[in-house]
Amino acid sequence: MAEFIEVREVGLRDGLQNIKTVVPTDVKLAWIKAEVAAGVRDIEVCSFVPPKLLPQFADAEEVTRRALAVPGLTVAALMPNLKGAERGAALGVHRLDYVVSVSESHNLNNVRRSTAESLADLKRIAEFLKGIEAGKRPRLLCGLATSFGCTIEGSVPHDRVVSFAEQVAAIGVDEIALADTVGFGNPNAIRTLFRRVRDATGPNIVLASHFHDTRGLGVANVAAAIEAGVRHFDASLCGLGGCPYAPGATGNVVTEDVVFLAESLGFTTSIDLEKLVEVRKIVMQALPGEAFYGQVAKAGLPKGFSYADARQAA
Ligand code: ZN
Repeated sequence: MAEFIEVREVGLRDGLQNIKTVVPTDVKLAWIKAEVAAGVRDIEVCSFVPPKLLPQFADAEEVTRRALAVPGLTVAALMPNLKGAERGAALGVHRLDYVVSVSESHNLNNVRRSTAESLADLKRIAEFLKGIEAGKRPRLLCGLATSFGCTIEGSVPHDRVVSFAEQVAAIGVDEIALADTVGFGNPNAIRTLFRRVRDATGPNIVLASHFHDTRGLGVANVAAAIEAGVRHFDASLCGLGGCPYAPGATGNVVTEDVVFLAESLGFTTSIDLEKLVEVRKIVMQALPGEAFYGQVAKAGLPKGFSYADARQAA
């Protein structure tokens, strides 16, 4: 068996959070089920923001409940605060994703709090989760947004990112995602920073990446992160996504293209690319007028393409 790389779908959260067209709950579930049928095992299904703030996620609880009934799926949800964590944990979500920006200005714009306040809230969430019995406790992931640069502050010092990773690890998270929220990263920066964060946080914390393809380096950055030992990658179907407080931020790296990259490099993803490309139809039909990205979907699989596991077995 080839080594496993987990490609995590975030299109239903990061992809949809900027899109005005509210996708019906049944369509979200059809999307989730079709991706699971294609082999996707981990999906961030919604955000537990107050429904008044983002009508797109007014159905967060129903989507979560129904996603939890899909066999074999790890259900993750974004939560902006302790209240969101309580909602998620009550539903039995497998992983709660929290975000703090390393850039002070981006954090103030994004969640209207200082980074110190955001880290204090993360600590309260971690304490709350510790009170839940082990088998039922959701895993806790903290995303460090703007780890590679920020539209407001420009470059973000690596030392500051490493310090944030250390603080977040000390608070007791299970996973840390370094996020290139607005596409400032390049392969060298990705390799350097992931290695430093790995050294600083130790082997027990899962490192994940969350990259946007703002300047076309998204897939190259994923390749660099793979070299640095990362095995968990956020991506969004059709490359949907952006950030309302990061002007110019386009979508996440495209799930289909990240799967193609991983399989081409000899890692198994357990995902069937042809089935995955078919799922695009559900999304495109639900979101007329949006921009859809993806090179594999456009060009098809190359003649003679084989999956990493099949090559290994041959
Ligand atoms: Zn994002």
